[in-house]
Amino acid sequence: MSTPERPVAAGSGAGGSAVGAGGWAVGAGGFSWPEPAGMRDAWCGQLRAADAGRRVRLCGWVARRRQHGEHLAFVDLRDRTGTVQCVVDGAHDLRSEYVLAVTGTVRARPEGTANPNLPTGEVEVGDCSVEILAQAEPPPFPVTDRVEADEAVRLRYRYVDLRRERMQANLALRARVNAAIRRAMERQGFIEVETPLLWTPTPEGAREFAVPSRMQPGSFYVLPQSPQIAKQLLMVSGVDRYYQIARCLRDEDLRADRQFEFTQLDAEASFVTQEDVHRFISEAVLDAAEAATGVRPPPIEKMTWADALDRYGTDKPDLRFGMELVDLTKQLAASEFRAFRAPAVKAIRVPGGGQLGRSRLDSLVERAKALGAPGLVWMRVAEGGDLDGPGAVLRHIGAGERAAVVAATGGEPGDLLLLVAGEHRTTCTVLGQLRVDLGRPPVWEGPHRYVWVVDFPLFEGIDDEGRPVAAHHPFTMPHPDDLDLLESDPLAVRSQSYDLVLNGWELGSGSIRIHRADIQSRVFSALGISAEQAESRFGFLLGAFRYGAPPHGGFAFGIDRLVALLAGEENIREVIAFPKTQSGADLMTGAPKALDARSLAELGLAIRRQ
Ligand code: ASP
Repeated sequence: MSTPERPVAAGSGAGGSAVGAGGWAVGAGGFSWPEPAGMRDAWCGQLRAADAGRRVRLCGWVARRRQHGEHLAFVDLRDRTGTVQCVVDGAHDLRSEYVLAVTGTVRARPEGTANPNLPTGEVEVGDCSVEILAQAEPPPFPVTDRVEADEAVRLRYRYVDLRRERMQANLALRARVNAAIRRAMERQGFIEVETPLLWTPTPEGAREFAVPSRMQPGSFYVLPQSPQIAKQLLMVSGVDRYYQIARCLRDEDLRADRQFEFTQLDAEASFVTQEDVHRFISEAVLDAAEAATGVRPPPIEKMTWADALDRYGTDKPDLRFGMELVDLTKQLAASEFRAFRAPAVKAIRVPGGGQLGRSRLDSLVERAKALGAPGLVWMRVAEGGDLDGPGAVLRHIGAGERAAVVAATGGEPGDLLLLVAGEHRTTCTVLGQLRVDLGRPPVWEGPHRYVWVVDFPLFEGIDDEGRPVAAHHPFTMPHPDDLDLLESDPLAVRSQSYDLVLNGWELGSGSIRIHRADIQSRVFSALGISAEQAESRFGFLLGAFRYGAPPHGGFAFGIDRLVALLAGEENIREVIAFPKTQSGADLMTGAPKALDARSLAELGLAIRRQ
């Protein structure tokens, strides 16, 4: 299904509170603007009818200018709080984006000229004297939320783009979220500790950025994928409760929800259980959401990984909409249609989907196959409640079975049922993806549904050499009830790891860590990491553990993603001041750039041209 366009703001000018015309929260959550100071004594966007008669000095940019004859101009002046109309007499050469200081008197607009779409629309500033603080070239695109400029141009002139109401609101929202997170963590006794950026490989599994050392040519630092090892060392140090709003760097392909560098709330605590970690983090997330939207979400529910897979076909369920997976294995176990005699048969019900035409249905079948399903069977619920669909399938399904399918799925006339049969996990994940394709509302719609997904498997599968692959990182503590299975049935071992999911986006993950050397060496050996390899990769951490490691666990969640969802943005670039493009370029600075020969020589590097 195509993604609907995000609505574009209908009016310009930020309000001091409530939600901007485009749906983004401008000053929600008890937020108020700072006292004006310095060269100004009032904010443009804050003037109201009650200010009439006040003499004010405003500073800002010319958002719009309408000339009335030679000697009268209406100038909309913009600062970060919004715009206000200034009536300027006399000849001035005032152009878009000029930077002005305007001194004038606030007055009610003449009868019939108020603008109800603008928070300052009842007033204007008259008797103005104007000082031009800086001239400006014409902006590369209009600075308004009503016109969506090409993204490459926006990124090239990001400093202009950020003047728009939507971007100002996003940056302010991000700052409120960070501040609320800090307050929540401090209140719960966490202390902020900064950890190095020039570091050594981290075991998160992503590709890493390397930084050449000038003092030791041929040697490299690695930028941290997360402060994972550092925070575990801090637990050995007795810090007990650590947090950091940390920058993490991963050299991975960029997507709408991924940049090379991103910001996490990173936290770790000693002598805690999973439940304690969930409580600490939930508090920070709910406080942040409240600071952003003004409304505190309800307590965060929990779901096991197995349940999430069974019901939603994914470990990041979007709970804003239904269309849950329905198990039909029993109902169809005796079916004459052989494909249905499989380890699992599951279905989703698409309300009203009976309307979909043949070519759309064919493309769903292709999509299911591309996702790994052996096939996809579709059926419509007909008037009267019986099933209708391809004869090749329905011919082999008895009336009793058809009725059982309709009853299990809750099918109503006009609905479409999509069935997949096969191995349990594939059946679930394929239907889970189709559920999202067909039913997922746009990001800015519906409530924010947070969920903790718990009891992840310790290993996510088997690699080409027959070794289990760690689902989180190799320091994740197995579930105490499953320790016996570590060697005999590794894929059945649950871990003490957990994810936090919001509307189908993984916000972050964490785990209780292994602090005991005997369990760690069993996990390393299951992963095929030899004692020597472990020593060379993580020797300093394992060494530290020999000096008294407390039981500990933690979590990290992506602030870019949280803020994007709270702002109703589909792309995290919209909540990052200076992001990179999909191909990793910074269009404003031109980075990454070649280094000159001298710098290369100093670093002991030579570039080999392919
Ligand atoms: N370091 C992990 C990550 O960045 C989170 C954690 O386990 O605390 O995903």
